[in-house]
Amino acid sequence: MSDASPLVLLIEDEPQMRRFLRAMLVARGYRLVEAETGGDGIAQATTRNPDLVLLDLGLPDMDGLEVTRRLREWSAVPIIVLSARGQEQDKIDALDGGADDYLTKPFSAGELLARLRVALRHAAHAAKEESSSFKVQDVEVDLARRVVLRAGGEIHLTPIEYKLLTTLIRHAGKVLTHRQLLGEVWGPAYAGQTHYLRVYMAQLRHKLERDPARPQILITEPGVGYRLKGARVEP
Ligand code: CA
Repeated sequence: MSDASPLVLLIEDEPQMRRFLRAMLVARGYRLVEAETGGDGIAQATTRNPDLVLLDLGLPDMDGLEVTRRLREWSAVPIIVLSARGQEQDKIDALDGGADDYLTKPFSAGELLARLRVALRHAAHAAKEESSSFKVQDVEVDLARRVVLRAGGEIHLTPIEYKLLTTLIRHAGKVLTHRQLLGEVWGPAYAGQTHYLRVYMAQLRHKLERDPARPQILITEPGVGYRLKGARVEP
């Protein structure tokens, strides 16, 4: 295995879960470092400088939210949170605290590997985001020229609609909480105004989706927020 393969830090106290993830990641060529506690995880993050962190929310010494918060004090490493069913609020808190994505146990290998690729790609592209364009289905967004096309024809978006769309594009493939979206588009004072989001999301879907009632681009993450499908295209 070459040194160029991404290094994943797995912070998880359940041996069975670690075994499952270890087998999957090593088979795909990822390098792996493991920690059983939050404290050890933070220590490993400092010394090993991983490319991505897989973080269980229920750890013996501190909760995953606290680990996220401490890592974010000095690191922008992508963090994918692993939560048990019924931990919806913890999941939202972790995302608000700086985690990049989450998976609810039990999840499939395919699902995890896909999220991993998105998070690593996003981290690699974060620096050159303004010069690229974005494409999904028949929708194309030219970020430099601020032009939105659908099936080749220009679509008019209001300033708020455009800001909401570009915020989602910046985090394409990842879930954004209601609070994050409201904070970035309208400002922190609007973090509780989820009805704004519902109204503008409906408008965007009406303009961009083939069937706004069955969205394929602007995906609802029930109880959590929204996720934009598609990928950034480099110039
Ligand atoms: Ca656990």
